[in-house]
Amino acid sequence: MDTMKKDPVCKMSVDEDEALSTECDGMVYYFCSEGCRDVFLRTKACKLPRTSYDLIIIGGGPAGMTAGVYAATLKMDALLITKDLGGQAIDSTKIENYMGYDFITGPELIEKFKYQLIHSYYLNHLMSEVERIESAGGGFLITTSELKKYFARTLIIATGMSRRRLGVPGEEKFQRKGVFYGNIQDVSFVQGEDVAVVGGGNTALQIVENLHTVARKIHLVSTTQLTADPAVIERVRGFRNFHEYTGYNVVEFKGDATLSGITVRKKAEKDELHIPVKGVFIAIGLHPNSSLVSHLVEINERGEIVIEPDCSTSRRGIFAAGDVTNAFGKRIIIASGEGAKAALAARQYVLGLRRKSS
Ligand SMILES: Cc1cc2nc3c(=O)[nH]c(=O)nc-3n(C[C@H](O)[C@H](O)[C@H](O)COP(=O)(O)OP(=O)(O)OC[C@H]3O[C@@H](n4cnc5c(N)ncnc54)[C@H](O)[C@@H]3O)c2cc1C
Repeated sequence: MDTMKKDPVCKMSVDEDEALSTECDGMVYYFCSEGCRDVFLRTKACKLPRTSYDLIIIGGGPAGMTAGVYAATLKMDALLITKDLGGQAIDSTKIENYMGYDFITGPELIEKFKYQLIHSYYLNHLMSEVERIESAGGGFLITTSELKKYFARTLIIATGMSRRRLGVPGEEKFQRKGVFYGNIQDVSFVQGEDVAVVGGGNTALQIVENLHTVARKIHLVSTTQLTADPAVIERVRGFRNFHEYTGYNVVEFKGDATLSGITVRKKAEKDELHIPVKGVFIAIGLHPNSSLVSHLVEINERGEIVIEPDCSTSRRGIFAAGDVTNAFGKRIIIASGEGAKAALAARQYVLGLRRKSS
């Protein structure tokens, strides 16, 4: 029986066996935290959902979640809107470079971040996708995918990066039916099967390392020579089930209901090769999710939001943090630090606005 319910306040999926609940008007409601339950009861009492905040943080990866915890500890009137909690960090199978932990997995670290955000310090949050940002009334108007509108005096953009796609026939059709992006936690469906990994960097080779005891054959398809760390390349080339196709492009994904193979072609050659595989893991890099504000702030040639040392952007009132910015180093600890800085700076900005209006 499906025991998953939606928290009516933040829209997060929660398990009814574990979640906090409240009975109201003959209905039982389930919540991710005491904070959301309080918001629900308060909203029921005054009958008006809140849509206006001093600060709205967009993105719930390490940068956005840290900005959120800082905003909560600074007692800011803030809302975090995000498609998910964790961002890219949730995909990391081993984190060995986050202070305080010799080793921790992405999901474990994110669980701790999440606990701080919604239990230790409660911050208003909404699981949704922001589709549009416009400037309005001395602040910013945000429209979500459900066409709900929210107003904020200041914003922190922490939308991170997304995986690049190949853009070839069949890629959309077989997404999650054999085609995956980056590392995934559960690879049991390719146990004893042939698989392909696309890419030649550290992420692609980390996937090969994760798969080499699970899959039968691993075909690595890379358009260029491998760019991963030499020690990793050497280790991977020693795997007996590893087959390398360097200088090849994937030109098509094939199958019926699920993926059955890929077609590859060597660069500048006509002949195509069909490789039967049950799963393909694509790791060809990431691009910054900056399009939401590209009409409002300065963006550099890599598509990153240009920020000052205090995370301010070229537009007053818009701050940005983490992988979506031109801050040096795409790491969890750096994104978190930048998120903290952005929250401190946003608070200064809001206090400045208050001083002006009093
Ligand atoms: C496989 C893998 C392994 C990694 N391993 C490590 C490691 O071991 N150590 C390390 O330090 N770093 C590692 N990294 C890098 C690290 O995960 C990133 O640097 C970090 O997650 C960046 O954080 P961020 O918050 O800036 O962005 P992200 O983590 O990208 O988070 C962005 C958030 O914004 C949300 N979002 C985007 N657009 C919208 C929208 N329109 N509306 C609402 N929400 C939106 C997303 O859903 C997401 O929650 C790894 C990355 C990957 C992919």
